[in-house]
Amino acid sequence: MLLNRERIPDNYFAITFDDGYQDNYDNAYPILRDCGFTATIFLVPDRVGATPKWEGVSDRQDFPLMSWDVARKLSAKGIDFGSHTQTHAMLTKQSEKEVFLELESSKRSIEKKLGKTVRLFAFPYEKAEPTLQPLVEKTGYLAACGSLLYPQNRFNLWRAECVGSDSLDDFRYKISKSWRRSVIFKYHSPFGRAIRFARRQVRSMVGRSG
Ligand SMILES: [Zn+2]
Repeated sequence: MLLNRERIPDNYFAITFDDGYQDNYDNAYPILRDCGFTATIFLVPDRVGATPKWEGVSDRQDFPLMSWDVARKLSAKGIDFGSHTQTHAMLTKQSEKEVFLELESSKRSIEKKLGKTVRLFAFPYEKAEPTLQPLVEKTGYLAACGSLLYPQNRFNLWRAECVGSDSLDDFRYKISKSWRRSVIFKYHSPFGRAIRFARRQVRSMVGRSG
């Protein structure tokens, strides 16, 4: 629909999971199946069947990532697989050549292991910098998930991150348009920036007195 510049109805959504944790199969898949939903899981080929020992992971270092066998099982059941780079790289710190290598080798590895074309990409750490987006397109991906609020396009599909501690009301709010508006307000309006600045000041004063 994005390619054809069609209007996307308000109640359309896609479900995505980053990193490829084993619990996507154990916990999420049965629920998705029972609800009649499918999803896209973004894999990190170098870490498949291992643990997420990459930059910035602290509390989930020992969480198991699914094996290729599990990925194949899910793929056969209609779950789509995309790339999340070969190594979960911080692409903003890499040269163009290194970025291409991450994009190409991960796409090829997943295609070879699952026997299906990989069309989607998710930027690690959500860093969908405008300089990186054309490289993703050049590698042959159809679209990518990122988190830049502007500009929204095929290579920066904005997502609402939902976590295990969210209540059903939180979830309802996060998938609504009001949540996106509240994020834009918080980070992009002078009033929102002033509130965040004031909160930081209060926190540092409390910190000093404590
Ligand atoms: Zn990730």
